[in-house]
Amino acid sequence: MFRDAIVGMAPYVPGEQPKPGERLIKLNTNENPYPPSPRVRAAIIKAVQGDALRLYPRPMADEFIEAASRCYRMPQEMILAGNGSDELLAMLFRAVLDPGDTVAYAVPTYSLYDTLASIEGARVAAVEMKRDFAFPAAELTRAQARLTIVCNPNSPTGTIISGAVLSRMAEEVSPRLLVIDEAYVDFADRHSMGLVRKHANVIVLRTLSKSFSLAGMRLGLCFAQPPVIQQLLKVKDSYNLSRVAQAAGAAALRSPQWAARNAERIRHTRRDTSQALRALGFEVPPSSANFVLARLAGHDLSQVAAQLRRSGILVRYFASPLLYDCLRISIGKPAEMKTLLKHLERIVPAIVARSNGRKSQ
Ligand code: PMP
Repeated sequence: MFRDAIVGMAPYVPGEQPKPGERLIKLNTNENPYPPSPRVRAAIIKAVQGDALRLYPRPMADEFIEAASRCYRMPQEMILAGNGSDELLAMLFRAVLDPGDTVAYAVPTYSLYDTLASIEGARVAAVEMKRDFAFPAAELTRAQARLTIVCNPNSPTGTIISGAVLSRMAEEVSPRLLVIDEAYVDFADRHSMGLVRKHANVIVLRTLSKSFSLAGMRLGLCFAQPPVIQQLLKVKDSYNLSRVAQAAGAAALRSPQWAARNAERIRHTRRDTSQALRALGFEVPPSSANFVLARLAGHDLSQVAAQLRRSGILVRYFASPLLYDCLRISIGKPAEMKTLLKHLERIVPAIVARSNGRKSQ
């Protein structure tokens, strides 16, 4: 009934979302713990008045694109809106990759890239990072893939690479495309938007899910030179953003100070959390995102994630050779992080003692 590529692939598994009414400390999917700007709620209410819901939305999300153009100082012809940046990634894979074509990225990274490659029947050149998560730029460009993706800051490591490295990569893979997924960049101290103007083959992706606190609204943005945008438009659903989402997105981008203030609070909490985790014995690579990766070297942390879950705290665990001793922990409010740390203070010494006991047997 279905294409071999679909039958043979594993589905993408999103992080757990609480059921209605379930109260959990949610540190597993990198949402923002603070609410969006009140202007967003007002814009949503206005967007559903009168005839609005009976009529299709604007196919090109004009109001949202106009706000994005102003907010990011980028011409409108260089911007495409998506139903979350996940949709933009899906459009890119669909528009660029024929079956058997190669897409390259460093792993571990956002696992949706694997899913999208499988759907297209594309080959993945996955360049493994070493245990220190150093970025393998040279190996990646050597793959000369049809599509190269750099998640920057990277998930789940939180690490970031410089604009100079990205610029060199763009030159080296040219005329093939380099996608820079900047989902978490508002929590970093640099971004790559300038590369879009400089390189005809660079695409930058942004989302309003993280710093703008709008994961539930599904809003993403793609920045590239007009010839790239024009090709991508051919695979876009006509009405990919609802009226409600378009209005919410426009309102959010018109008050970027709100998101900037929340990002600053999260950076503060990130610094405190990283220090506290290190004091507990975790290695925590410096993070430029709204999460940290905490490694307890050599200890399988699946049971820690399970114990935290039983205590009502969700974190993300990845059962892979490079990440089995790590937890990815989203940065929540200070009180939420305090509760998490209180539980870890109890759990960690117990697992360390248990595995030391095993070693001495
Ligand atoms: N890129 C990365 C690296 C992500 O972690 C996420 C969120 N899971 C996305 C893109 C997608 O974000 P959204 O679809 O919510 O815009």
